[in-house]
Amino acid sequence: MTRPLLNRNLAGLGTTIFAEMSARALATESVNLGQGFPDVDGPREIARAAADAVLTGKGNQYPPGPGIPELRTAIAEHQRRFYGLEYDPATEVLVTAGATEAIASALLALLEPGDEVIAFEPYYDSYVANIAMAGATRVPVTLRAPDFRPDLAELESKITPKTRLILLNTPHNPTGTVLTSGELQAIAGIAVRHDLLVVTDEVYEHLTYDVPHIPLVSFPGMRERTVTISSAGKAFSFTGWKVGWVTATPELVNAVKTTKQFMTYVSAGPFQYAVAEALGLPDDYYAGLREDLKKKRDLLSAGLKDIGFDVYAPDGTYFVTTDITPLGEKDGTEFCLSLPERAGVVAIPSGVFYDDQGEGASKVRFAFCKRPETLEEALNRLSVLKRS
Ligand code: PMP
Ligand code: GLN
Repeated sequence: MTRPLLNRNLAGLGTTIFAEMSARALATESVNLGQGFPDVDGPREIARAAADAVLTGKGNQYPPGPGIPELRTAIAEHQRRFYGLEYDPATEVLVTAGATEAIASALLALLEPGDEVIAFEPYYDSYVANIAMAGATRVPVTLRAPDFRPDLAELESKITPKTRLILLNTPHNPTGTVLTSGELQAIAGIAVRHDLLVVTDEVYEHLTYDVPHIPLVSFPGMRERTVTISSAGKAFSFTGWKVGWVTATPELVNAVKTTKQFMTYVSAGPFQYAVAEALGLPDDYYAGLREDLKKKRDLLSAGLKDIGFDVYAPDGTYFVTTDITPLGEKDGTEFCLSLPERAGVVAIPSGVFYDDQGEGASKVRFAFCKRPETLEEALNRLSVLKRS
């Protein structure tokens, strides 16, 4: 066979950096600050709700295609409670297999081959894969250190007649940038002026530190053109459950559902009941999560700084981006590949999220959604990097 097995659109995508680095962490018994998952599970009563659902036969057979009504109602209620947004649970909410499937379904549904998608880089890895699967082209706008704020004039200058949509992620993985009201308003203005669709990935919506998260859809002209995506993984610390969702107009939801139904059709039946309950947790749950993660951010950021990294403390997400140049290092990939042996710690080379290697090569991402003792152990181990 001379023809490559893998579809040419996917050539070069390989194994995800998260899977690769987590496997390396296990093999080398390293502290894993790579892939973003907490080392403590979410609320016990929510885990209990999932177990009860299984044992009482709720969701053990195919749930309805768009998601169980209880969860769709809870999602609509969540959007009203936190943002004052109104969605009809019957027609404007779709439950997906994590945000990952929501993003993939949205992009495959809304893009044609040859379309251009504008996204801020560094980008979350599945965006690149999904844009490629759709036969579309990614057009990066680089968030540059030290502030990682978007250049909105640059964004607008990259629009061409082929531009179909803006793919937005706020709070942003991996930089931790949380777009401000002014930035969002400007992006909304651009989308309206150029009649673009917007897909927004807001999976870290509850993980912001002293700044608000504002959904782009709340700006004028955005309701009819925005597909808003989130998931239960981050807000409730159950990343393995893979319950995500889309909120949008009935037309957009229908388009996304058309793709989604032929990928998984449905998923996570019993977990859907548990997530419906989780979304209704009181305000102090959400505040507690934020406070806890903020302390962890500060602990890890201060420790990394002390070791000699340049540290860009994030306003959101549970990742901190660093630059390794002050440690006498240049190449984040080499650094991260050797870090398990050198220090017994795993981190993610942010270069994999960039087209612009000049910006990305020396950046390294650490996850801080870990117990304080895990973070302290990692810092302890990393202190071998200290330059004397
Ligand atoms: N978007 C971003 C920015 C993420 O960081 C992640 C994963 N952590 C996802 C989407 C995927 O979310 P899920 O696990 O719900 O599929
Ligand atoms: N979103 C997680 C991260 O950025 C990883 C999820 C995954 O492995 N797909 O670390």
